[in-house]
Amino acid sequence: MKVPFYRHDLGEADKAAVAEVLDSLFLTTGPRTRAFEEQFAALFGVSHCVGVSSCTTALTLALHALGVGRGDEVITTPMTFIATSNAVLHLGATPVFVDVEPDTGNLDVGKVGAAITERTRAVLPVHLYGQMVDMRSLRDLADERGLAIVEDCAHAVESSRDGVRPGQLSDAACFSFYATKNLTSGEGGAVISQREDVAESVRLHRNHGMSKSAYERYTGTYQHWDMIALGHKANLFDLQAALLLSQLPHITERLERRQRAAARYDAAFRGIAGVEVVAERANSQLARHLYTIWVDPQRRDEILTGLQGAEIGVAVNYRAVHLLSYYRERFGFVPGAFPEAERIGDSTISLPMFPAIDDDEVDRVVEAVAEQLVLAH
Ligand SMILES: *Cc1c(COP(=O)(O)O)cnc(C)c1O
Repeated sequence: MKVPFYRHDLGEADKAAVAEVLDSLFLTTGPRTRAFEEQFAALFGVSHCVGVSSCTTALTLALHALGVGRGDEVITTPMTFIATSNAVLHLGATPVFVDVEPDTGNLDVGKVGAAITERTRAVLPVHLYGQMVDMRSLRDLADERGLAIVEDCAHAVESSRDGVRPGQLSDAACFSFYATKNLTSGEGGAVISQREDVAESVRLHRNHGMSKSAYERYTGTYQHWDMIALGHKANLFDLQAALLLSQLPHITERLERRQRAAARYDAAFRGIAGVEVVAERANSQLARHLYTIWVDPQRRDEILTGLQGAEIGVAVNYRAVHLLSYYRERFGFVPGAFPEAERIGDSTISLPMFPAIDDDEVDRVVEAVAEQLVLAH
């Protein structure tokens, strides 16, 4: 592969952090998980963080904590990874899709109001590619209509907009530490919240609804535990937390390296006809999780194949969720339901983006895209 889609840059310090846990007594959820939760909450200036096994579970447990269940509706975007709306389905609730802004791919907050019914309990925005949705407007609307907000922050560890960070204006914000995310433990996730009741519910349900965690049961003297709710088994554990803790001090430096690559891509693509880049809102800091371009939908797949032939790692983030087979069959969606999301879904190509990508690699990707655009004519 000339330029891989993603290359992690975990180093000796990260390996040592994991080895240290392996040499300790406690492998599961214990002191390192607790330390990570404290530091991660502090990163956003919020009061609570609960580590869980994935963002998918984080979303499910957060929505459940806010009372979302059978028969309820949750408003969300079709331009996302399936995890977002699947979390709603797992609770027996219905995802109600609202179309996205044509130039950012983010949930169009101006269209949310019209989708609210008496069954709507929550809005679930996704900060696509690491650019935040307009949270101030969304919070105002949610307050007016009595709705909760859960943010899908899988792309948004470093994001801010209008002085707002993830978790600050929502009832809960959910993160992914999956292998290619900006902060990673291979798999993993977290819920942050300003609300003690939400954090407590997630903490309880990540561990079977048991009244005491293993750490509490086995440090010191044995204590009886009770089961007070039917939970899941979805706890983040210390091996993962050790890896996350060792990356936390480097978040800004790693963001700056991705920002440099993104700026180089932007400058190059401004001069290439047939490539559109995602618009950036004012007063926004993008987390630069993915670098995505939009090309002619008629030629997208051909260009995608051509880039892979040129040994450039690519992905599609995302084809519109409502047109995937399961959603079509269950809800009867047909093309045309959400035209902006569909157009983006048909024209998107994600290019290599990771902290260690160098100028030379960015240039090779740009060159390959330019070549494919000519060939695809
Ligand atoms: C990766 C991702 C998820 C799911 O994260 P997991 O930790 O794999 O469950 C959810 N939403 C978005 C937008 C993602 O990119």
